[in-house]
Amino acid sequence: MLARVAIDLALDRLFDYEVPDGLKKKLAVGQLLLVPFGRREARGFAMEILPDGAESEYDLKPVKSIVDETPFFTSNLLELARSIASYTASPIESALRTAVPAAVLRPGAKPRELVFVEPALAAGDVSVTKRQQWLYEQIVRLGGGWMQQLCRELKTTPSTIRELGVKGLVTVKLRERRRDPLVGRRVLPSRPLPLNDGQRAALDAVLSSDRPVLLHGVTGSGKTEVYLQAIAAVLERGRGAIVMVPEIALTPQTVQRFVSRFGDCVAVLHSALSDGERYDEWHRIRGGKARVVIGPRSAVFAPVRDLGLIVVDEEHETSYKQDETPRYNARDVAVMRGAIEGARVILGSATPSLESWANVSRGKYVLASMPARAGAGTPPRTLVVDMDVPDNRGRIFSKELLDALRLRLDRGEQSILFLNRRGWARSVRCEDCGHVLECPDCSVPYTYHRADSCCRCHVCGGWIPVPSECPECRSRRLDYRGIGTQRAEEALSKCLPRARILRMDADSTSRRNSHDDILGAFRRHEADVLLGTQMIAKGLDFPNVTLVGVLNADSSLSMPDFRAAERTFQLLAQVSGRAGRAELPGDAIIQTYNCSSPVILAAAKGDFAAFAAEELADRKEAWYPPFCHLSAVLMSSKDPKLVADWAGMYSKSLSKIKGLTVGEAVPCALEKAEGRYRWQIVVRSASAGAAVRAWKWLVGVRPPPPALRVAIDVDAISLV
Ligand code: ADP
Ligand code: ZN
Ligand code: ZN
Repeated sequence: MLARVAIDLALDRLFDYEVPDGLKKKLAVGQLLLVPFGRREARGFAMEILPDGAESEYDLKPVKSIVDETPFFTSNLLELARSIASYTASPIESALRTAVPAAVLRPGAKPRELVFVEPALAAGDVSVTKRQQWLYEQIVRLGGGWMQQLCRELKTTPSTIRELGVKGLVTVKLRERRRDPLVGRRVLPSRPLPLNDGQRAALDAVLSSDRPVLLHGVTGSGKTEVYLQAIAAVLERGRGAIVMVPEIALTPQTVQRFVSRFGDCVAVLHSALSDGERYDEWHRIRGGKARVVIGPRSAVFAPVRDLGLIVVDEEHETSYKQDETPRYNARDVAVMRGAIEGARVILGSATPSLESWANVSRGKYVLASMPARAGAGTPPRTLVVDMDVPDNRGRIFSKELLDALRLRLDRGEQSILFLNRRGWARSVRCEDCGHVLECPDCSVPYTYHRADSCCRCHVCGGWIPVPSECPECRSRRLDYRGIGTQRAEEALSKCLPRARILRMDADSTSRRNSHDDILGAFRRHEADVLLGTQMIAKGLDFPNVTLVGVLNADSSLSMPDFRAAERTFQLLAQVSGRAGRAELPGDAIIQTYNCSSPVILAAAKGDFAAFAAEELADRKEAWYPPFCHLSAVLMSSKDPKLVADWAGMYSKSLSKIKGLTVGEAVPCALEKAEGRYRWQIVVRSASAGAAVRAWKWLVGVRPPPPALRVAIDVDAISLV
């Protein structure tokens, strides 16, 4: 008997081992094994088990041991990992590693048992049980990163802790208790709502069709209620469900809607979970205790038993695409997994991706439409405000928007303002020589942050104190250009001194839970205006909000990407969907310098079908997705000449291959990041596989030198 093992070294091949007699009965596909590897030992997953008599050309070493007898992967999940590896041209190990949380695989990870050191009490006179109790409480209190925090609180260093650890290592077996991410929140049970006709038709489509259902429903049309009732139907048949939502929409409010319907059998996977919480949730799912899983992209791999349904909410969201190896799109993986497991799939959105929209006309997906709002609430009236008139030019807030904000203040209603840029000013520029301060490692201008008086790079996070003079010409006339959320906040408090403003962006939400704190305060009407970046653009449901303003609709239109129009439409539709969610009617105000742009006009009307028809006609003519597959070959190096030369050579070689339309090698829009020069080649082909095969062949015959990093991003979603 042979075991074929994937070892986590990104070698992109499997290794065969002999199975010793003692392990033959226990060994199963999907288990984590310990195997000899060179002079060391390595851990790897059993991918295949071949019966006696299977020949091998090598002298095989035996499997050392089975790390965990319960397989980490079902055979369905192994098949999924294989499909992802081959579709995205990634090593199988990287697909496997992506599919299991690192916290679960960490050597020594065990449920409800922690091994740690307690420095202050190690030499003390407290009894062991008391000490255990104390430590247990500290860990529960501090969660992930408790070691560093404990160091800080007790004013000691990790090395002291490590030293003490030799003597004072304590193993604590904790009481059976789940570290529940929703702990301390009261969730009231909810009952299914009677469905309206659109919802009923959508639910019927989901339950009767074995093709994925694209649920196109405007914001507030009640898509979530359809998801909830589809899940209920699946649970009734004894099966489980996965609900994927974009990370930033994974708010306690969202989670509570599911917990209030399904109670304890809901598990939440969340990037803010501590390792312990993640570990617990994963095991609750694998053990079958949790049957409904909510989470971002990675939830698509949750080991739900007998999976019956996968919901992908906001299916057009780019955050479903992973931007490192394996570069998978979780929406497409959901469709793959649905096919493998025989599970229903719902892709929901108010602004579907054009890929999914086209899959409806191709007969791959079934369309269910919900064009009207479900409960109370009328669609917002949208006003496009021309900023290119003398009254408004150069201002952050148009007269129209200020009037509308004042009206809300007078009526005791709330407003949301959207600006896709954090920080205070976009850039710092010398008025005398025109020099713009840039990050030396990335080719992007620094953003000025006034609160801590520094210039910060939004790509690598590096920063410098604000210089008092221009580094080029020593002029002291530095000008802060463009608007970030901090500057807008300041300007607004000058224009409307009585408005209470909350700001929400990556800078104001870096603490754990600060997200919830801000949204909670806004919900309790402790502020009149919520001003923020794309964090506030979707998923939030505030009944008292009757005005939404988009401060600058042009920034996304000018992106150097063939999807710029699609992104702009999505953004405007999502943002304006925030207004008028309950009884009160709402207004959306879009400020732009491109008043006559067809995208902005279609978005203002909320007419997705019209926008899609026009945009698809353009894409078809130019042969862009969804009419072809577009992949990006990405190359980077610290040596600018090396990467330019190789990119040119690769582009030339690829363009000789039949069936591919290959672009010139060009520097990426973000030319330099973290000290590396970046180039790309855009490859279009009728099938994704054609591009992958060509690329694999090419790196086989012309392997890149060690100083050059290369990768292919199949179905690339962003070309920056
Ligand atoms: P979406 O997810 O499409 O944006 P939601 O599911 O959040 O929409 O629903 C919007 C509002 O409509 C919610 O307050 C919800 O409770 C309400 N709602 C949904 N379905 C119904 C229904 N059938 N009858 C009455 N109200 C509904
Ligand atoms: Zn200067
Ligand atoms: Zn940088």
